[in-house]
Amino acid sequence: MAQLSNDCFAFGDEPLTIDDALAFIRDRVPMVVGVEQLHVTRCDGRILAQDLLALYPLPAFFNTAVDGYAVRHADLNPDTDTRLAVSGRLQAGAKKTAALPARSAVRIFTGAPMPEGADTVFMQEDVTLQTGSNRGDEHVLLPAGLKAGANCRPTGEEIQAGALAIAAGTRLLPQHLALAAGTGHAVLSVCKRVRVAIFSTGDELVEPGVSRVGAAVFDTNRIMLEALLKRIGCDVSDLGILSDEPEGLRVALRAAAKTHDLILTSGGVSTGEADYVKTAVEAEGRLDLCRFAIKPGRPLTMGVIGSAAFAGLPGNPVAVFVTFTQIVRAILAALGGEVYEPPHFLPVKSGFNHKKKSGRIEFLRVSLANSQTGFVAQRYPTEGAGIISSLTATDGMVRLPFDLEGVQEGDTLMYLPFSAMLG
Ligand code: AMP
Ligand code: MG
Repeated sequence: MAQLSNDCFAFGDEPLTIDDALAFIRDRVPMVVGVEQLHVTRCDGRILAQDLLALYPLPAFFNTAVDGYAVRHADLNPDTDTRLAVSGRLQAGAKKTAALPARSAVRIFTGAPMPEGADTVFMQEDVTLQTGSNRGDEHVLLPAGLKAGANCRPTGEEIQAGALAIAAGTRLLPQHLALAAGTGHAVLSVCKRVRVAIFSTGDELVEPGVSRVGAAVFDTNRIMLEALLKRIGCDVSDLGILSDEPEGLRVALRAAAKTHDLILTSGGVSTGEADYVKTAVEAEGRLDLCRFAIKPGRPLTMGVIGSAAFAGLPGNPVAVFVTFTQIVRAILAALGGEVYEPPHFLPVKSGFNHKKKSGRIEFLRVSLANSQTGFVAQRYPTEGAGIISSLTATDGMVRLPFDLEGVQEGDTLMYLPFSAMLG
């Protein structure tokens, strides 16, 4: 566990691409959370704190992958059928594995331990069973051509005891929990949750549910941020709405910094006269005006207050969504001990023309249609950073590169579905 240095967001004066920003964050922002031990059933979505080595090999013993007959391959005729007596029966969980008598086969069921001496299993559907008149007098007729070792799972085939099963920093998905349990682990070391305080700022903001008057605006950002944060497993403190008033902002930021790893605000970071958040952060800690060349989201601001990281998101809801999913997500990963690979944007065809300024990355909300030549993206008609419906009536976003000056119908665009941004 490390301490945040107060210049960890001092990224320099050059306009930053998202890749630059993510590389900086990875290098400069340390894990600040502690570690706890949890039963594996409580670890879904948590970050593994230490490399997990297999306590047992997987599979833990030599067993059959199918229902059928276990044999010694050396007993088989290479070119013609082989007829063997059935000498026993083994089910999954069988305790004793008697050695396979010479020139015989054992009836065996998926998951059962292989009898000593057997090395190959015939699937039951490939075998002809011949039952004699005496009870227990059974033979099988086995076709030629099966390879030695067929349909068996050797000990440690998947993973050897002591080998790395899951690397530290992995966000545990249900399939990781299966691998942890399968290699013998009941309790895992995971990173504690990142504690995040969220504020909205703006004199115009009111809580949803109140009866709105005059120029009041319902607060939409806090509710979206809380849900985004909870989806990635953060411990969220909702600290309400702050008015555009420098002293109140300072007091609230100072208090929140004492008990949180990250303070996240929205609004009040542009260059308007009532944008006091930056001044308040500067007074309480250090502010870095990162030059994120992105649209929407340009005014994103970062800093450090006491031992807490600070990210000031713009006020417009779409800018909040973009800056959170593209940048803040990586900060949370670094603070929380996660080795973070941003999701891959995938190529689709543009179904629209669009003019763009060079020198910034743009995110457009798009819907995807499946055509004969692949997926085609259609842009949401209204572009404004305040239009929440542009996030609800579409499937995802395309990212237009820094130097690009425009999009023509048919161009290849890089697309990311919303579903890939929410975990
Ligand atoms: P600001 O960045 O404070 O200048 O805000 C930009 C725009 O976003 C203004 O129209 C604000 O009213 C709006 N806005 C700011 N915060 C919120 C919020 N929490 N919920 C909804 N709209 C907001
Ligand atoms: Mg404002």
